[in-house]
This record gives sequence, C-alpha cells and structure tokens, in this order.
Amino acid sequence: MTLRGPHISYEPVAALKRYKLVAFDVDGTLVGNRSQKVVWELFNRHFCDNEAINQTRLKAYLAQEITYARWVELDVSDWIAVGATRSEMERVIRQHLYLMPGAKETVERLRGAGYRLAVISGTLDLTLSLLFPEHPFEEVFTNRLCFDAQGRVSGWEATPFDMEGKADALVEIAARMKIDLDATVFVGDHINDTHVMRRAGLAIAFQPKRDEVREVADHEVDDLREVARLLIDELGSER
Ligand SMILES: [Mg+2]
Repeated sequence: MTLRGPHISYEPVAALKRYKLVAFDVDGTLVGNRSQKVVWELFNRHFCDNEAINQTRLKAYLAQEITYARWVELDVSDWIAVGATRSEMERVIRQHLYLMPGAKETVERLRGAGYRLAVISGTLDLTLSLLFPEHPFEEVFTNRLCFDAQGRVSGWEATPFDMEGKADALVEIAARMKIDLDATVFVGDHINDTHVMRRAGLAIAFQPKRDEVREVADHEVDDLREVARLLIDELGSER
C-alpha cells in the first residue's frame, strides 16, 4: 500500500533542482571595509589624496556625461601618473578591506552542495585575488589591472559587467553553464546590484545599503552563512 502519492515524494527532488548557480557581488558582500570605502575610493584617497573625485566622477557617470569605461580610465590613469605599485595597493587593501566573516564557509558549503559559483563585481581583480586567493568561483567578472616588471600599474581592462551590465554577465554565465535564469541566485548589497537582482531567479540582499536593494530582494540576510542555510536547508537539501 502506498502512503505517499507521487506528487509528494517528488517534491524534494524539485526543491533540490530549483537553484543551480549562485553569483556574488564583492565589495560590501564578500569583502567588507573598515572605513566604509570600496577599493576605488581607497586608492583614490591613498594615491591621489583626493576624495572629491569619487563623488564628481560618480555624478558624471550617473548623468551619462562619462561612460563606465571612461570612469575606470580616469581613476586608473591617476594611479599610473603617480607610479602606484602592486605592493602598495596590496598594503592598502590589507589595511582597509577584509574577507567577510562566513564568506569562505558559505561558498564551500554551497560548492559541496553542488551549486555552481560565480563573481560579478565592479571591484578590481586584486581585491579578490589578495583576500580570497583560494576562492572556488568558476567565473570571475571584475575590472582588471596590469602591472609592469617593476610592479607598477601599467594598464587596465574595464569590466563591461558593472551596474546594469551585471545582469548581462549573469545571463552570459548562465548560458555558458546551460542553466536557466530562473535557477540563478544573486547576492549583493548596493544599487549597482539591483538590475541583476531583478534578472536572477532569486535575489538575496546582504546587509543592503539602500532601500532600492531591499525592495528588489526576495530575501534579506545579515550574515553570509544565511545564504547557504537558506538555499540548502530551506530551499533544497544537501547532496
Ligand atoms: Mg557591493
């Protein structure tokens, strides 16, 4: 005699397959800052002794007076002009930024449960490679810096995937992994994450900095470990 109908016994399987890819923002999400400044602001202060340019360039970008790529160019060119080095940048990062508590165990637990993992961020590649060198992300979309033989910044590659572009990155990664957009999750904290959070199957706001982020999120968490708990313990079962 069957006590459980097929519609009941199939439920855990459906839940298990609901989400397959989890993409994370970096600054403010995987990486915290001791002085409420992201890596760009820290470098502009350290190398250019100019905090005003953060606001003027952000305003110019938002007013569509400059493109995102031009904004990156302006900042990095200023660092190149003063001979900024990789070792000095690493010192600034270590002094002000840190890997968010629970970040490592969260992504390890998600990976262990079979989730595909990615990073879509407007940070610099140096931030993640320095603070989380052993990270398990299969895809990492960030801005990139180049250094010469003496360790000085010599060039850059601006990511086309910050701001609204973050959503394009999620679509691209999901397509590459043959994962339906409905089965994607994005975890972010700020207004540059809102577009991608709308496109993702599930949007998780981690310590949201603005109400707009809260409004587009399906869930809000204060501890990164909650992301794994939510996806594995509530929305799926560990394999
Ligand atoms: Mg952020």
